[in-house]
Amino acid sequence: MKVKSGDMVFPGDFLAVSEEVLPSEGTYDEDGKIKSLVVGEVSRDDRNKSIKVISKLNTPPTLKRGSRVIGEVIDVRGQRALVRIHSIKGNRRALATYFVGGVHVSQARKGYLSKLTDAFRIGDIVEARVTKIMGLDGIDLQTSGRDLGVIKAMCTRCRHFMEVNGRDEVRCPNCENREKRKLSVNYEG
Ligand SMILES: [Zn+2]
Repeated sequence: MKVKSGDMVFPGDFLAVSEEVLPSEGTYDEDGKIKSLVVGEVSRDDRNKSIKVISKLNTPPTLKRGSRVIGEVIDVRGQRALVRIHSIKGNRRALATYFVGGVHVSQARKGYLSKLTDAFRIGDIVEARVTKIMGLDGIDLQTSGRDLGVIKAMCTRCRHFMEVNGRDEVRCPNCENREKRKLSVNYEG
């Protein structure tokens, strides 16, 4: 059954195959199948061969490739740091859907990073760029770039927020602990 403009769809619903149309806002490509990322109404443009889903919730900042997001680091394990995405930068409204993205160790900073805990720790607030959306749990993020990375670092010893103490190093004003981070120039500490 062909999905057409005006149809209501839900996250994960099949919309079209990627040979037919290009995925746009509110959609993602999973192995050549374009699916909906949000609850919304399909808008299919056959002339430009693109398909999008317009969120029907009243708070619709939808995530797309290239979006800059603000989130909280909820886990740092092996090659991937998990980030709970709170908002899209420049948009004060919280996202309507719950998203978790991941920063792979190779995407954390320019150059070699021996371990991810030298870039992020649980509780840090980061600014990142969305590089790929492969579904609700398959959001890839990148923090390499001067204005990307940690904007608030939390001390692993006492959970206090930390101050910048030189290049990619932070210091806890409460317990004097020093730690490494991939810092953004927009650090708010
Ligand atoms: Zn501390």
